[in-house]
Amino acid sequence: MAIRKQKSLSKKDNGANGQSAKIEVMDCQNNGEKCKEHLAVINENYLESYQYLEGKNFRESIASLKNAFEKTHELQDTTCLKCAQLFRDTITESLEDIRDELQKMSTGIFKTKRYQSSYDEACDVLEELKKGK
Ligand SMILES: [Zn+2]
Repeated sequence: MAIRKQKSLSKKDNGANGQSAKIEVMDCQNNGEKCKEHLAVINENYLESYQYLEGKNFRESIASLKNAFEKTHELQDTTCLKCAQLFRDTITESLEDIRDELQKMSTGIFKTKRYQSSYDEACDVLEELKKGK
């Protein structure tokens, strides 16, 4: 009897809605020349966060966003302050989405302690990020 190979757990390359987890440069005074490299590193964390989110690893997802946010500060020395601000805003918005999601999950019928603590974490980190603006 032939053993049928189990369907492999292929990773989803593109999300169901085709949305890519990536921050884009907009209105850069240097045509993205100076912030491109920074953004590549920031996007690595940003994508990582998105993947953790897909796997419902909220704490890791929040930590990745925090890392991405901290990296935007390395752009301070350049003329890309506006770019850095845009990156921070995008990261903060993503974190707010996660927090809202967690709030729903920690207050709904399916509420669990796990989500509650992740929610608290999201709130703490958001407050931290807003101070660091
Ligand atoms: Zn720039």
